[in-house]
Amino acid sequence: MIDIHCHILPGLDDGAKTIEDSLAMARQAVSEGIDTIIATPHHRNGKYDNDRQTVLKAVQHLNEELNLAHIPLTIFPGQETRIHGDFLSGVEEATILPLNESSNYIFVELPSDQVPRYTKQMLFDLQVKGYKPIIVHPERNARLIQEPDSLYQFVQSGAYTQITAASMTGRFGKNIQKFTQQIIEANLTHLIASDAHNTTTRGFCVQHAYQEIEENYGPSMVYYFVENAKFVAEGQMLAADPPEPIKKKKKLFGIFG
Ligand code: FE
Repeated sequence: MIDIHCHILPGLDDGAKTIEDSLAMARQAVSEGIDTIIATPHHRNGKYDNDRQTVLKAVQHLNEELNLAHIPLTIFPGQETRIHGDFLSGVEEATILPLNESSNYIFVELPSDQVPRYTKQMLFDLQVKGYKPIIVHPERNARLIQEPDSLYQFVQSGAYTQITAASMTGRFGKNIQKFTQQIIEANLTHLIASDAHNTTTRGFCVQHAYQEIEENYGPSMVYYFVENAKFVAEGQMLAADPPEPIKKKKKLFGIFG
C-alpha cells in the first residue's frame, strides 16, 4: 500500500526530527501495511522551505538508511507546497516538485482558515500547463467547512483532493469527521493519506481509517482509495465519480430563532 502524504524526512519540517524518528515512523508504516511512502515536506508555508533539490537529497539518504536497517519501505520524493502568488513560477523554475517527481500531480495546501481569492484561477493555470493539482486535507479548512460549495467548484473544474486518515477516525474532532464523510459521499475526494508527522500524536492511522471506510461505504471504497494512491505514484489518471454539491446543513428555526 502506498501512502502519498507523509512528513518522514528527518530535520526538514515539523515531522521527523532525527533519522531515528524517521526509522521509527518507517516501522510504524510497515506495521500498517505500507510499503511505499511519498515524502512530502512542507514548502513555502511561512515556516519551512524545502525545494526540489533538498527533498531529492533527503529521500536518497533516507532510502539508504532504510536499507541498512532492513526496513522494507521505499521512499519517493514529493512536497506539500502552500498556495502562494508565485506558485506557477515555482513550478516552471522546478523548485516545486511534483509527487514522485514525474507524475505531474502537485500537492496544493490551503491555509487552515481561509481560501485565497486566486485559488480557482491558480488551479486552472496549473492544469493548462499540464499539471494535476491535488488539494490536501480540504476537510481541515475552516472556510471550506463553512462554504463547501467552493470545494465542489474546485473539483468540478478538475482539481483532485486528498483527505487525512486521522480525520476519518475522529482525531481532529466531530465536525471535521462529519465533513470528511460528506466529502466522500459527494465524490469530492480521490485520495486518502496519513499526513503522519510522528508515531504518537500524528501517527499513520491508516488501518483504522480504512476500517471506518469499509464499515461506512463497503470494500469498493477502500479499493478506490488504495488504487488511486498507486495511480498517483505511477502518474496515471485517477478514478473519479462525478462530483456533487454538499447539501447545506438545515438551519434550526423557532426556539433557537
Ligand atoms: Fe502535511
